[in-house]
Amino acid sequence: MPISDEPGDMEAGHRLAAKVLPSGLNFIDGEWVDGSATGILIDPSTGGELATFALAHEADVDAAVAAAREAFPKWRSVSPDARRTVLVRLAAGLRAEADTFATILALEGGQPTAFARAGVMKAADYFEYYAGWVDKLTGLVHPTYPGTGFDYSVPQPFGVVAAIPSWNGPITGIGRKVAPALAAGNCVVLKSSETVPFSALHFAAICSEVGVPSGVVNCITGGAQSGSYLASHPGVDKITFTGGSRTGRAVMTSAASELTPVTLELGGKSANVVFADADLDAVGAIAGINATVRNSGQGCLLPSRLLIEDSVYDEVVERVLDSLADVRIGDPLNASTTMGPVVNEASCTRILSMIDAAKDSSATLLIGGERLEGDYRSGYFIPPTVFGDVDPASALAQEEVFGPVLAVSRFHGEDEAIAMANSTRYSLAGYVFTRDFHRAHRVAEQMDAGYVSVNGVNPMAPTAPFGGFGESGFGKEGGLEGLTEFVKTKNIYMAMQFSVPPLDGGSPTRAN
Ligand code: NAD
Repeated sequence: MPISDEPGDMEAGHRLAAKVLPSGLNFIDGEWVDGSATGILIDPSTGGELATFALAHEADVDAAVAAAREAFPKWRSVSPDARRTVLVRLAAGLRAEADTFATILALEGGQPTAFARAGVMKAADYFEYYAGWVDKLTGLVHPTYPGTGFDYSVPQPFGVVAAIPSWNGPITGIGRKVAPALAAGNCVVLKSSETVPFSALHFAAICSEVGVPSGVVNCITGGAQSGSYLASHPGVDKITFTGGSRTGRAVMTSAASELTPVTLELGGKSANVVFADADLDAVGAIAGINATVRNSGQGCLLPSRLLIEDSVYDEVVERVLDSLADVRIGDPLNASTTMGPVVNEASCTRILSMIDAAKDSSATLLIGGERLEGDYRSGYFIPPTVFGDVDPASALAQEEVFGPVLAVSRFHGEDEAIAMANSTRYSLAGYVFTRDFHRAHRVAEQMDAGYVSVNGVNPMAPTAPFGGFGESGFGKEGGLEGLTEFVKTKNIYMAMQFSVPPLDGGSPTRAN
């Protein structure tokens, strides 16, 4: 079982730390303004009230969209070097505030501070990376009918981008969405999840400090009601959304009313396929930790299914369980903690009910499976939980738990491994461990996933495109593709001389 930290007087410590939380207002047109309503955020570590925050309603969304619309003509015409400077300053602001962000993310989301801090640095990487693209986003010249004219295309910003991130990586989500949107010349309405409102507001404070022009970034905090209203808003030109697949459908439905284009980064149930010839030490060191400890298993691309070749099944399972023995679960503000609580009561209840259903199935509970009691009982602490011999067709193997639960199944041979890996509705990420170079390529090629890691875990550099297929969404974040999500291509034709297009459908020719 994981070792628990001494909780001490967690509640008192959190009350003190909560002084860093921003006021809970909305940030619209460069001003801090009262929201139409307020919500109360519960601390996932203690179950106690943490702070109040603005709960955006329609009037707040209208004001934020209007501010972004007004700022857009000016922002799109800012010179590339000046726009690049703004993004570089935002990156520096994020880095300078990394410790404060880490405290906020520990309080509102239960993320251990070291993990949270790394996410802030990653967000800064995205701002720096996309700052570099500002003056390199160019168009194309197209060959056309000889002698008729000059044909070219240019990328243009959409206008107002609605950015709706999920709660589990709120600051990295801002890096992946807001940085490329701004780099391409768009203005942004950032609607933070009601589950983690304060980190987004702290980002808004940095925008204000580093001189992002008023209205270019607006931040409102709210839930489904404001998200749905924003997604259907006629003043929004592009939506970038991260969240569950069901919500993704709702966003797409809302967007359909105005035919607003969407990028959807949705759920996952990623398979980690381990062949008998793999480096089993490496597998043992990361397979269980990555699936259950990292952000308490609340990550879209985490390898929540472990598929092990039959001949090494017992050996791998033993190593995975060993790796979980040293996990320090406890107060996320404590520097030695490696695993915090799950994000809120609703998540805790959902995860525990999925665990209970798995206990009633043919799967074998190998570790965990009960909410922490004693000093931790008022927080939402669920330890790493591993089920063995999970039926690949069962709910635990097919549905996203989004919590610290790993489903382990066995396979015989490569064909079965691929079939099993591809058997869910999701197609987000995949992992393969083998020393056979040819097989690594074969399996990676056949995995139905937008993102495959072989013999390790991709560090998700901002340079690379990330995004899933099917139930996991469409569109990319990161890399050049993550930037072109925020531009529309305009084709322009300049005639060299006036000519009348032939009426017989034939090709135009030089008019002489
Ligand atoms: P969620 O779908 O509940 O909420 C996501 C966001 O949408 C929140 O800001 C929420 O307030 C808002 N929202 C809720 N209902 C809405 C509606 N009807 N219209 C518009 N907006 C609405 O998801 P969550 O619980 O915040 O995040 C967990 C999910 O996100 C998981 O399924 C996870 O796999 C997924 N996720 C995907 C990626 C990815 O890149 N593919 C990354 C992180 C998380």
